[in-house]
Amino acid sequence: MTADDGTEVVVERLTPEESFERLAHGIRLRTIRVLDEAGPLSHGTLRERVGVDDPGQFNYHLQKLEGQFVRDGDDGYDLTPAGRRVVGAILSGGYTSDLTGETVPADADCLRCGGPLETHFEDGAVSVSCRDCGTRFNRVDIPPGVLETRDLEDVHGVVDRWVKRRLTAVQYGFCHRCDGPISQRVLRAVDDDWEGGVPDWLSSLPVDAVLRHRCVRCDVERHALVAAVAVLEPAVVGFHHEHGIDVRETPLPDLEWLEMGVTSVESIDPLFVSVPVTLGDETLVVSFDAEFSLVDERRTRADDPSANG
Ligand SMILES: [Zn+2]
Ligand SMILES: [Zn+2]
Repeated sequence: MTADDGTEVVVERLTPEESFERLAHGIRLRTIRVLDEAGPLSHGTLRERVGVDDPGQFNYHLQKLEGQFVRDGDDGYDLTPAGRRVVGAILSGGYTSDLTGETVPADADCLRCGGPLETHFEDGAVSVSCRDCGTRFNRVDIPPGVLETRDLEDVHGVVDRWVKRRLTAVQYGFCHRCDGPISQRVLRAVDDDWEGGVPDWLSSLPVDAVLRHRCVRCDVERHALVAAVAVLEPAVVGFHHEHGIDVRETPLPDLEWLEMGVTSVESIDPLFVSVPVTLGDETLVVSFDAEFSLVDERRTRADDPSANG
């Protein structure tokens, strides 16, 4: 990170191995849970609630947590922000879903053939695919905890909103996994744009370009339909709002204009892609460059003669 005067802000951190080692003991994880529920606590009360009789043994484990996960303040021991995030990760990920192996109808139509979509649950992942043509639209590593206390009928909507939230984090420049900086790049479905050629999953889809997200820190890489991410562009959000549609609440497959092949490549060098969004008798065309920055937006009406030219 660079400060105003140009100097780098250095962030020191533990390696993942060091962080895991510091947490890897039942007493330490219990200490974190107790502090989450009842902190700040005095040393004696904390040891009592964690249930360790030997003060020496307890101090040994507490010292491993101090600094990064636990702080010793004027009011006693409490969690640091990193300690609270550990609790969050345990809460969202620490479930196994009893939906594993189940398939639930999604009450939405395939973006490719109009067939019925289904939501399928695997251990720790959810996929949305078409029963007729077999196209898989999403395979997302949703922590099963996300689905806890949700109605089965609403699961499709929960998955849709979870995916949109992740794509929104990327629009703000954060990796959904590690919060590191993330880059976006539009890639055409041609060999020139891919190391090792167009991957099989892409060549089987009727799309001319996809959007790649890649994290600078953890290297996680995902691909999304350009049009699906364009839905989050403020101009497109506003256009839907004017037509009475809240894109946060409307699952992507329910947007009638959003078909797999809707995005077109307008120019190759420099790269521009366009997405026409038609609602009622009005069409908004949004164009993006290779970094997925909006470069143009224009509206036409069906009754406007210049729209045909
Ligand atoms: Zn289909
Ligand atoms: Zn990352």
